[in-house]
Amino acid sequence: MVELFVKSLSKSYGEVSAVKDVSFTVEDGSVMTLLGPSGCGKTTTLRCIAGLEKPESGLIKGGEKILFSSEEQKLVPAEKRSVGMVFQSYAIWPHMSVFKNIAYPLKIRKEKDSEIKSKVSKVIDMVQLEGLENRPATALSGGQQQRVAFARAIVAEPDFLLLDEPMSNLDARLRETMRHELRRLQKNLKITTLYVTHDRVEALFLSHKIGIMDKGELVQAGTPREIYSNPKNSNIATFLGQTNMMDADLVGIDGAEAKLETKMGGLFVKTSTGELSKKLTICIRPETVLITKEKAYDRNTFPGTVVSIAYFGDYSEYEVRCQDTTVKLHSSEDVKLQEHDQAWVYLPSNKITILPS
Ligand code: ATP
Repeated sequence: MVELFVKSLSKSYGEVSAVKDVSFTVEDGSVMTLLGPSGCGKTTTLRCIAGLEKPESGLIKGGEKILFSSEEQKLVPAEKRSVGMVFQSYAIWPHMSVFKNIAYPLKIRKEKDSEIKSKVSKVIDMVQLEGLENRPATALSGGQQQRVAFARAIVAEPDFLLLDEPMSNLDARLRETMRHELRRLQKNLKITTLYVTHDRVEALFLSHKIGIMDKGELVQAGTPREIYSNPKNSNIATFLGQTNMMDADLVGIDGAEAKLETKMGGLFVKTSTGELSKKLTICIRPETVLITKEKAYDRNTFPGTVVSIAYFGDYSEYEVRCQDTTVKLHSSEDVKLQEHDQAWVYLPSNKITILPS
């Protein structure tokens, strides 16, 4: 397996600048996900890497091999790139059996029949389609079709796997099962994978690294934990899940702690930078806010009224009105509070993120 290296990639369609100066590396054997709203340039980036689109500029390398270079005027055609791809639509051939669909990339390479048989059986085992080899591809469930598409993408042992929203046609339960399957397969195969989705749960679950795209640009890249806990701006923070966002004024910095003034009152926030602007926006995820019946902490704790409680089985979501601010929080403990009760919320200083201004 090899590293996938993309530098300063740009691609336009007429007036539309679909991908703007995008750079990232997918480390050997790892999964990187491009995540972002519809139209942000995820699929175009993937198609440029697959060789299905010709970029205007940039460099794409698979290991040491140059797949595209505007500087060197080099463009390796799609069929010469060692890439397996799964599309949203699966794109499996309806007139062929499961076996023939999976064998297709090997047939094109004119491999020997005995080789084809052994390679196809191996991947059929891997994706758990045993017994369905001769079934027409049209007589398969959505999940089975997805497995066929995946098997066909990996059968020729490509350098990379490019997956474009491969689960978006599955229902919620099947999606969850396939998420686990995909992670298991990728771990076993250790194939360098670029995954495209607008589903944040899939991205957080499957990826070693996430790249957030917005309007054709890669706006932040990092591990799922880094991006979730330290989003670079409010769009990314909200795109990755619920968050409490608040305006704050900087009062002072004391070592690794900043003192802020918010509408709820004074707030201490852990910070690694000594330079902050006077007007700030902060955010804190609901699952890191605590709720208590009585005051249990000295700092960063505020009285309020419980305005709503929603029960989700493994946790409850509370909305607590603290003066003019509504704080949303998740608690898995039975805190014995009802709507309209008085309560205290606690915002741990090391869980609050100061968004760059
Ligand atoms: P989605 O999640 O909806 O698939 P995406 O993030 O994958 O979106 P792209 O499909 O890469 O986005 O599209 C990026 C931009 O380029 C969009 O504005 C889109 O309309 C435009 N675009 C994509 N393909 C073409 C094309 N063949 N011709 C013209 N414009 C295109």
